[in-house]
Amino acid sequence: MHNSIEIKQGRNEALETILNNVGCAVYVRDTETQEILFANRILYNSFDKEIKEGALTGLFEQDMVRGNRRGSREVHHIQKGRWYDVYYTHMVWMGHRTVTLFVIHDITEKKAFEKTMEQQSYIDFVTGLYNRLCCERDLNDYIRDAEMSGSKGILLYLDLDDFKNINDGLGHQYGDMLLKTISQTLKGIEGIEKACYRVGGDEFIIIISPAIYSSFHSIVGKIMEIFSKPWYLKEGDYYCTMSMGIVCFPDDGRSFHELMKKADIAMYEAKRQGKNRATTYSRKLAVFPGKRLDMEKNMRDAALMDYQEFQIYFQPIVDIKKPGTPCMGAEALIRWNCEGLGVIPPDEFIPLAEYLGLINPIGNHVLREACKYCKKWNDNGCPQFKVNVNLSVIQLLQTDMAEIVEEVLKESGLKPRNLTLEVTESLAIHDMDRMKNILGRIKQLGVRIALDDFGTGYSSLNHIREIPFDVIKVDQSFVKDLAGDAYSQSFIRMVGELAETIGVSICVEGVETREQFQILEGMKVRLVQGYYFDHPLPGAEFEKKYVPGCTKESEDRGKGEKSPT
Ligand code: C2E
Ligand code: CA
Ligand code: CA
Repeated sequence: MHNSIEIKQGRNEALETILNNVGCAVYVRDTETQEILFANRILYNSFDKEIKEGALTGLFEQDMVRGNRRGSREVHHIQKGRWYDVYYTHMVWMGHRTVTLFVIHDITEKKAFEKTMEQQSYIDFVTGLYNRLCCERDLNDYIRDAEMSGSKGILLYLDLDDFKNINDGLGHQYGDMLLKTISQTLKGIEGIEKACYRVGGDEFIIIISPAIYSSFHSIVGKIMEIFSKPWYLKEGDYYCTMSMGIVCFPDDGRSFHELMKKADIAMYEAKRQGKNRATTYSRKLAVFPGKRLDMEKNMRDAALMDYQEFQIYFQPIVDIKKPGTPCMGAEALIRWNCEGLGVIPPDEFIPLAEYLGLINPIGNHVLREACKYCKKWNDNGCPQFKVNVNLSVIQLLQTDMAEIVEEVLKESGLKPRNLTLEVTESLAIHDMDRMKNILGRIKQLGVRIALDDFGTGYSSLNHIREIPFDVIKVDQSFVKDLAGDAYSQSFIRMVGELAETIGVSICVEGVETREQFQILEGMKVRLVQGYYFDHPLPGAEFEKKYVPGCTKESEDRGKGEKSPT
């Protein structure tokens, strides 16, 4: 072959010059004789070896679509490690020969750029983990692998518990820092380094691929362990737990969306059961999401209606050390009388209210109503009556909780010492200093604080020392087995003794039988609550039974209305 294949059939210097300077490799092949009629300088410079070996056809001329006049495709030159865009067009050359013109652009740089762009589009910038888009792509690959090999894989869906509080409380900067720390720690677990994704604000996915399926339990165990320790942030230790939903593929689903839906159901069940745990998806749970969606919609509607559907019941708290076991006050317990769904007990809707961020307004509604009631009882012959109001940890973490309590007290005119706020031990998993500070400010108002459900969960006596509680409420579970179980008896006895030494009252809940009541009588227990004495009652009924002064007042008013003269 000549060093510069001349343009046959009439040398056309102008055309040759142009083609030599177009910035890409060009050659023309006769369709019939397969002879190369022209090749420009760049082709010689770049593909000298290929030309000598007659390798151009194999490289650039495959896969041309028959019948198409022109077309293009990308070619990867593996030995050279470069990418080319090959454009071809069939044409008539110099008046009568049928030829194919090939134009070859080197697109290696463009390809590399595209690849980085693609990779970047798979990265979450806050944490450096892969993002939702990447998760979807990878999961689809894993599902296909599992289906083809008849194996299984697992998707873990993690949602941080009450992350919003850290974010709002410490600021977004620290929220991001926490997300980063969590991400790095998760990525450190062997086997899942490349399978951790951040798929939402505080939501993560971890894929356990079929290849490492057998280490599924150990990986979940390691994740749980990570979250059982505090995170170091802003010169302090902060607890931030997570709730996890677990689904298996392809058994539970064969698409990203189906698996995500089920993982979300399982994760929400973990939240509902008290957070800080993992729940595996099962069909039993599937009946729940419909109800959850209904509940969610209805709850938002109820919020718009000024929370009127949320009613407050009162369960009397009695003093068993006084003759006749008189009522001393009541615990306010919320009921949701939902127009669409009927009466829903608090255990069912409070976790959802917390999840939706509606617990604060609902809780404030309870606080306001309960204080109004108690003030009325105090003014109508029962000046010592106290009301207990349950607070969710989420409410407590509002920075202005103390101000809200102060305002409600002012509004209702209730004496602070007649209000007791009940908080649960789950607060132990949150920022202790912050909690101490908020509860301290509430106590300064003169309001009393009770530690609810004592004996369950974190059950640390340290908290009783750290936070100056006024009342300890022993959990119902200890009363259930009181008659037969020596441990329950000694537990209540011990808490009673302890309470006396540190000057705290103890209240035992869930007393249902005479036998239970009699056992408690012999202990240092003063306050008792339970069906044995009374069930929670609507406000009016409670008043009729326990605050006769209120009924008298309304009767008097009724009489007055009947005879205006
Ligand atoms: P809790 O604070 O431990 O309330 C005591 C629960 O035990 C109430 O259930 C009460 O009706 C029930 N109970 C009372 N006596 C007995 C008894 O003798 N035997 C048995 N088996 N149960 C008895 P309820 O009203 O369904 O409330 C459940 C939980 O929901 C409450 O547990 C509390 O944690 C939460 N809750 C209720 N009202 C509110 C509220 O206004 N705000 C918040 N944040 N939580 C609330
Ligand atoms: Ca309570
Ligand atoms: Ca309780």
